[in-house]
Amino acid sequence: MSILRLAIPSPLRRLFDYLPPRGMSAAAAMALQPGQRVSVPFGSRKVTGYLVQLCQDSELPASALKHADAVLDDAPLVPSTLLQLCDWAARYYHHPPGEVYACAFPASLRQGKAHRPGGRAGWRLTTRGMGLPAGALARSPRKAEALALLQGAPAVSNDLFRERGISGAVMRSLAAKELAEQCTLAQLPMAADSRAGLALNPEQADTLAALLKARKGFSCHLLEGVTGSGKTEVYLQFIADCLERGRQALVLIPEIGLTPQTLERFRQRFAATIVTLHSGLGEAERYRAWEAARDGSAHIVIGTRSAIFTPLQNPGLIIVDEEHDSSYKQQDGFRYSARDVAVKRGQLEKCPVLLGSATPSLESLHNVAAGRYQLHRLRQRAGTSSLPSIRAIDVRRQELQAGLSSTLLSAIDQTLQAQQQVLLFLNRRGYAPTLQCHDCGWVAQCSACDARLTVHRRHGQLRCHHCGAGRRMPQRCPQCHGSSLITAGLGTEQTEDFLCRRFSQWPVFRVDSDTMQARHAMRDLVGLINRGEPGILLGTQMLTKGHHFPGVSLVAVIDADAMLFSADFRGEERMAQLLTQVAGRAGRAEQPGEVLVQTHYPDHPALQAMLNVDYSDQARAILADRQAAGMPPAGQLVILRSDCSDAACGEQFLQTVRSQTEPDLPAGARLIGPLPAPMQRRAGKYRSQLILLAPDRRAAQLVAGLLVGRAETVPARRGLKWSIDVDPLDLY
Ligand code: ADP
Ligand code: ZN
Ligand code: ZN
Repeated sequence: MSILRLAIPSPLRRLFDYLPPRGMSAAAAMALQPGQRVSVPFGSRKVTGYLVQLCQDSELPASALKHADAVLDDAPLVPSTLLQLCDWAARYYHHPPGEVYACAFPASLRQGKAHRPGGRAGWRLTTRGMGLPAGALARSPRKAEALALLQGAPAVSNDLFRERGISGAVMRSLAAKELAEQCTLAQLPMAADSRAGLALNPEQADTLAALLKARKGFSCHLLEGVTGSGKTEVYLQFIADCLERGRQALVLIPEIGLTPQTLERFRQRFAATIVTLHSGLGEAERYRAWEAARDGSAHIVIGTRSAIFTPLQNPGLIIVDEEHDSSYKQQDGFRYSARDVAVKRGQLEKCPVLLGSATPSLESLHNVAAGRYQLHRLRQRAGTSSLPSIRAIDVRRQELQAGLSSTLLSAIDQTLQAQQQVLLFLNRRGYAPTLQCHDCGWVAQCSACDARLTVHRRHGQLRCHHCGAGRRMPQRCPQCHGSSLITAGLGTEQTEDFLCRRFSQWPVFRVDSDTMQARHAMRDLVGLINRGEPGILLGTQMLTKGHHFPGVSLVAVIDADAMLFSADFRGEERMAQLLTQVAGRAGRAEQPGEVLVQTHYPDHPALQAMLNVDYSDQARAILADRQAAGMPPAGQLVILRSDCSDAACGEQFLQTVRSQTEPDLPAGARLIGPLPAPMQRRAGKYRSQLILLAPDRRAAQLVAGLLVGRAETVPARRGLKWSIDVDPLDLY
């Protein structure tokens, strides 16, 4: 007897056994293949599961097994390499397998709807129709015209009928007479042209030559190239080779804001079908892109994090641009790193993986040092531009207007007078991070989080940036009823107000998640900036990500101090990456760029390193420190987190898990905690964490498995939630 072992989206970390649908023959059941979707009763619901394995027997007696309702696909919709990838990811991240398999399918297929092939719908003649002579059906001119079209080709698309004004009713009447039938037009053959690329400089040429040598089979490459060094040009030429060999290229980029710019560059280069996959798409668009990737009609797939689970018919290359970017790591639910999954996928698909960045992650540098990745470096900017000069402005005892020193203000003046653009970086949105009473000292706090509320003056609101709660700005102090409410600290809204007044004859653009809500806001802005007219761009880190702004010649960091004192072990690495990326926006075309960094701590070692040492040397020094401390990427971290409305019960739960796991710890592995998270209360829940530090991946995986096993069985209070995070980015 065949038993269907299924992955079913649910919080349970296991597979589920079912009997084949009633009425399915034994032979048909034996022929089922992994990846086929199966609709099954699950508790009181009907859900879509994914066949993982056909088995001969189950741990449960056959009488306890339910029948599946139906098998939804005639054949698996996704290739077996992708199923293997899901299987690997579920095990590595200790996540429920059904939820991982679901990542490989668009929403409608997850909901159990029928698969619609992507080929264009059309019509063809039936055998009976083929028997008709030319010029038949003359009494009905519309039908005669349709017939003539069908007689001229094996199949004709609906689009062509529509163009000729032939209605669906005409076609249906031909179908009723059994003269024509609906069909799907064959996909375009896989071939694409590309325009000639730029003449590569020697560093680029060496890199491309090394990549081309490794084009067959799996290998992983890190392209470490300073900002503006022409990494994208190398990607494009490597992709051209991949397309010439009739293979597809998958390109991951960090953020949706980047897609229009990247897409435009790709479209100009390739006469190819390019599809994009990101969170800004509607469901129908997403389905079409997924289907085109799957059936091979898309040559290039460009997408954000989740696109790593897109099925590809014939993959030849995977690129992860800005590989250090934290948006590749999903921060809730299924906490995977798309960069790391990409490397695994390359192994399974037997194709090269290219990671690129001006500021590579320490993880990737570590893998280079261990000989797992090949390193390629671009040390010079491509073309005629050169790297900007960087200088600190000591703002101690200087008068600041909306955070800007007079030195900076005059630099802005000069840049605008010279008809160039200015980019100002301030990583705090809103008007001010604090609202305070000048009379009694009251501070506006979020009632659900251990956090202050941010003043958003434009909307007359106080908002919590952690849980999203908002309320109207009070007119009087709720504590003493006085009217001297003042703001403290600085946000982009405030600096924008000041800039608009001070530089009223120039345009000022604010770029943060408050102003970039609209779907095309970023694209429109990028278009405007690229026209090169003088003006000021003010924004959060949204501005720093890979954008190419040729007209920007002055870049300033308004408040570097905010980054200097991070408690997180990745603080220094993050700051070095951010500052290097911000600075990299300057002088990307002919004008030389200048970068000014405002600080009260001009002698701080991290800042000094940034000013005097390049990222590459700094990163290698930080890596040595981490190695000495046994922290990632040298050691492995796993965090078991709990959140609960009761402060004590989360810690108790983690304590029990810890004491049950402790006896089985392998040598060198350590459990730390339970500790309260740095922001203990968030959205009304108290958060605690148990941290595992292990000497290597095997030990980390072993203990992660133990932790999950215990967490699943330790009795916990209702409402307590826990989650596991393998390779966490942050310790909270
Ligand atoms: P990166 O991706 O490293 O930031 P880009 O590929 O965007 O760099 O290149 C930066 C600029 O240099 C772009 O305007 C690009 O057209 C130009 N460029 C890249 N390679 C060359 C080359 N070999 N010759 C001339 N210009 C180049
Ligand atoms: Zn007060
Ligand atoms: Zn809050």
